[in-house]
Amino acid sequence: MIADNLKSVTQGIARCCEKTRRHPGDVKLICVTKEANIKEIEEVLALKVKDIGENRVQDALIKYRAIGDRAIWHLVGHLQTNKVKDAVKIFSLIHSIDSIRLAKEIDKEAEKINKVQDILVEVNTSGEESKFGITPNDIGAFFKEISLYPNINILGLMTIAPEVNAQDMARPSFHKLREIGEQLQKLKLAACGLQLSMGMSNDFEVAIEEGSTMVRIGRAIFKND
Ligand SMILES: *Cc1c(COP(=O)(O)O)cnc(C)c1O
Repeated sequence: MIADNLKSVTQGIARCCEKTRRHPGDVKLICVTKEANIKEIEEVLALKVKDIGENRVQDALIKYRAIGDRAIWHLVGHLQTNKVKDAVKIFSLIHSIDSIRLAKEIDKEAEKINKVQDILVEVNTSGEESKFGITPNDIGAFFKEISLYPNINILGLMTIAPEVNAQDMARPSFHKLREIGEQLQKLKLAACGLQLSMGMSNDFEVAIEEGSTMVRIGRAIFKND
């Protein structure tokens, strides 16, 4: 089941890349395992998936104990400052930096273990109050400030589109994230090659059309039908 699901997801990604003349290697699949158990994670690793996404540090620690560095670990969910110490130990990339306070704490804890922590800045592209993320207006100042922190390395931006019935309704969020990225590069606040983490099971095709470089997919891989 997982093997079939995974195949249709990777084929879907490849089809979208072809349609938009992008190279399939330019879009990384992050398999989100927050609802998967260790056996299921083992199964996707055996199918050559390397990048695993979790949204809670506590759950990820348990899974990390079983799987370790056979996977590349991504934190895709919200991070509380009191979990940063554990997070910097296991995650290669933290997708959800949404405050100066959090960035400072990561910088501090990463320094203690001699690590430069790769991060993405989460942007609230939908304006929904229930969503985390920096608002588009504040993003320039935010980048300026956190780029001074020596033990964090900003790789790009992340967003979560609103839950909508039709994929196309998620498009404006993805489009906005790409525009923000281009603006940051133009202002020399970000290097070129900025990563865009956007697109989930329900909307990854549109996200790829809008320039996503990392899709975070869970349900489409672990569903049982
Ligand atoms: C759960 C989750 C995903 C994956 O969502 P699916 O709909 O299961 O593909 C992606 N990103 C974040 C931040 C998540 O919490």
